[in-house]
Amino acid sequence: MQAMMMNRPLLISSILDFAAEQHPNAEIVSVRTEGDLHRQTYRQTAARVAQLAHGLEAHGVKLGDRVATLAWNGYRHFELYYAISGMGAVCHTINPRLSAEQLIYIVNHAEDKLIFVDTTFVPILQAVKEHLPKDTRYVIMTERAHMPANTLDALCYEELLDGKPETFDWPEFDENTASGLCYTSGTTGNPKGALYSHRSTVLHALMVCLVMGQTLAEGKKVLPVVPLFHVNAWGLPYTAPLIGMSMVMPGGALDGPSVFKLMDSEGVFSAWGVPTVWQGLLVEVKAQGRLPKEFAQVVVGGSAAPRAMIETFEKMGVGVNHAWGMTEMSPIGTHGVMPRWVMEKPFDQMINYKSKQGRRAFGVDLKIVDDNGKLVPHDGKSMGELYVRGNTIVSGYFENEEASKKAVDAEGWFGTGDIATITSEGFLSLQDRSKDLIKSGGEWISSIDLENLAVAHPAIASAAAIAMPHPKWDERPVLVAVLAPGAEKPTLYEMHAHMSEQFAKWQLPDDIIWVDALPLTATGKISKLTLRQQMSDYKLPDLR
Ligand code: ADP
Repeated sequence: MQAMMMNRPLLISSILDFAAEQHPNAEIVSVRTEGDLHRQTYRQTAARVAQLAHGLEAHGVKLGDRVATLAWNGYRHFELYYAISGMGAVCHTINPRLSAEQLIYIVNHAEDKLIFVDTTFVPILQAVKEHLPKDTRYVIMTERAHMPANTLDALCYEELLDGKPETFDWPEFDENTASGLCYTSGTTGNPKGALYSHRSTVLHALMVCLVMGQTLAEGKKVLPVVPLFHVNAWGLPYTAPLIGMSMVMPGGALDGPSVFKLMDSEGVFSAWGVPTVWQGLLVEVKAQGRLPKEFAQVVVGGSAAPRAMIETFEKMGVGVNHAWGMTEMSPIGTHGVMPRWVMEKPFDQMINYKSKQGRRAFGVDLKIVDDNGKLVPHDGKSMGELYVRGNTIVSGYFENEEASKKAVDAEGWFGTGDIATITSEGFLSLQDRSKDLIKSGGEWISSIDLENLAVAHPAIASAAAIAMPHPKWDERPVLVAVLAPGAEKPTLYEMHAHMSEQFAKWQLPDDIIWVDALPLTATGKISKLTLRQQMSDYKLPDLR
């Protein structure tokens, strides 16, 4: 029997309409490329988004067209999210840290009609313009007075809005219409496009409101350090307006002192980003001897948050939410809000739970399987490849038949490429990316665990564990490390002493290589691919 309920399409335009009406005075505060701090309310934002949509229409943007952005976190980038998707076009966020080759591939693959670009990134586009589609137009995201000289024959963002009506009749269409496009950074082969829908985006926003409740609060401020150019800043541009939180947009200054200063002056309650950013912030917190005012919640994801970092934050009274997800999952898959029975445990045990990658969000199913696709038990010990299923997860890749075929298994589950264990209470522990696991003498060693323990040593600022080929054991782990400022280098044997409480002898690294900095990917993660390339001539010491 069919129910008798209305079936209204879930559309992104409804989110900002709601915020403008229900949370009209919550703000978007932005560090602008023009150099100042800019503030506007959701109500003002909604009016500007309408103007922008008229501007897009005037330049021929139609349903289904791809319109790209190459920009920092700021109010104009936020406006583009809503204007482009709201009118039925596809907001394609481009990561400015991609190589020229990847950028050229992506823009040609997406066939972007317009590219909106921050003044900072104009040179990036100028350098590759010859190789981009001939009829792509460029818009520089500033006002006339700040337009840089350029070879893009670019339009001016504010002139697109000038004089346009402050309301727009947002069209109604099928909720499965594409709304956003984000390419994975593609460590091997060409980048692949995750094509989000209005439905998946609205459901994801609702899901995050539900499961991340502790880190969100009406009337308070949230800082997405995670960029709007990477998986929709983990959905915050949709979640924050629903909740009625003000958003503090940091622009391009993401170093510890800048982030501290902005958080402190704005009184940011909750801040979201990758571990490397929080490492930088913690150095500044130590230097200042205090936290930024009102800072109470930190969301960490994108790569494993080291236990030592979680412990440091928690000891200072900042609640840590360690989440896991990926571009293909919109991106949240698990969250780190702890059940009461964990919070009642002794501090050390509670931190153990927080160091895991959390529990699944409602609407995301998890399974782990062995090499033959057979289910592996959720006993906290058995490792398997992690597969996911749900309404916020891709079913394939944009215009890429070959990759789409491989993306999901016969039962419709998406293969994450992550190796994990799951406890009987549902806690996920990521062991590795399948290609980063270290296999020594037929046994697996988790590089994440090695790195976690290495950075708990006071002399180590950051570290990566990678596999090096070994004639007898196939592979042996080697630690590539950055020394903490002012510290003395520990010897390999001192490191072994530090690590041997948690690792068997055969799991300990065979060498430590000291470097000034670790190579990062376009999304700010340690690039093991680059590290392996840099170490192609490396020879293991003869320890075993
Ligand atoms: P990229 O473009 O770098 O692939 P994604 O954000 O899509 O960016 O990366 C997703 C991957 O990042 C996951 O599959 C996982 O390997 C890793 N990752 C994300 N969050 C965590 C976490 N909390 N702990 C460990 N690894 C994580």
